[in-house]
Amino acid sequence: MIYLDNAATTFPKPPEVAAEVARSISEYGGNAGHGAHALALAAARKIYACREAASAFFDLGAPERVVFTQNTTHALNLALSGVFGIGDHILISELEHNAVRRPVLALAQKGLVSVETFPVLGLDDDAILEGLRARIRPDTRAVVCLHASNIVSAVLPIEKIGALTHRHGLFFIVDAAQSAGLYPISMRRAHIDALAVPAHKGLYGIQGCGALLLGERLSPEPLLYGGTGAASLPAGMPHDLPERYEAGTLPLPAVAGLLAAFEVLEKIDLAALAEKERALFVSARDAIGEMPAFHVFAPEREGGVLLFAARGHSAPEVARFLDQKGICVRAGLHCAPMAHKALGTPEDGAVRVSFGRYNTERDVRALLDALREIH
Ligand code: PMP
Repeated sequence: MIYLDNAATTFPKPPEVAAEVARSISEYGGNAGHGAHALALAAARKIYACREAASAFFDLGAPERVVFTQNTTHALNLALSGVFGIGDHILISELEHNAVRRPVLALAQKGLVSVETFPVLGLDDDAILEGLRARIRPDTRAVVCLHASNIVSAVLPIEKIGALTHRHGLFFIVDAAQSAGLYPISMRRAHIDALAVPAHKGLYGIQGCGALLLGERLSPEPLLYGGTGAASLPAGMPHDLPERYEAGTLPLPAVAGLLAAFEVLEKIDLAALAEKERALFVSARDAIGEMPAFHVFAPEREGGVLLFAARGHSAPEVARFLDQKGICVRAGLHCAPMAHKALGTPEDGAVRVSFGRYNTERDVRALLDALREIH
């Protein structure tokens, strides 16, 4: 089996992560924050250590402001909850995933906010910033955008965008679903007010948790109301973080796995990894680009996600054919209809190939061999 769907979730996970998940189940699986016995405390210590690791890794500087969520989508919904007032204007990029598009459009449908997109494709950093600057109005409150696209090789200049939002006093909310663990992110340097990350993609944790890292300026309304293990008497949720946003039992195995994943990341040269994935992307892109049966969508804004369409075959047909050959890729719109529209892909979307830490040139060759059979 050749796994080329790492943008959906990375696979396989490092053995260190698998071992820690197993240990959490068999050795210290109490309910963190819910009880003071030895196993509840052991679980709580692991979870706090993971907050510390996340805070350090993304340069937040405040472990208690790392809020665990189910996934990136949950984190983004929380970041956008109760933050905006009637008449606020929100800017999002044209590449946004539904995890950003749908929550902001839901706010717009309630008559609360207006939403405007800013262009990215085909533009250099200066042109992106100019497009953003031109759209900032007196009622603009926030820029919400992804760091790296989940369908094409496009990485946004978040430090420059953050400097601009900071100058204009806007909130900057970043969807790092595709970049966390692959490209360096400093929340403080990039003036990011809220960073949404998944455990299960580039950080190489398991499915079941994500995190919202909250800067000092943003105070969303809780999405969930319920027990926090302590301070149980008041009717309202506690004001302290992270409890304010973490009602109910946390997914200890996923958080423990994420802590192990951060420890693995400490030993990895991130720049070399990004370069390796980029090299796999480039060799696949160039070879598929030369095959008359295919059209590659590759706007040059760095990144390593490859998108192509077959002439004469639908994207799902191509993905099914590759699946029969033991190659996992994803076809369709990838929850990013705006991005597909901006790229001009066919109605049924396109085929996405996304590389991960464990892919090699051999995987690219197997992909190319299989694609050569399609005419
Ligand atoms: N944003 C982007 C850019 C993504 O690629 C994804 C996952 N496809 C998400 C958000 C949602 O992530 P999750 O599945 O962790 O909620």
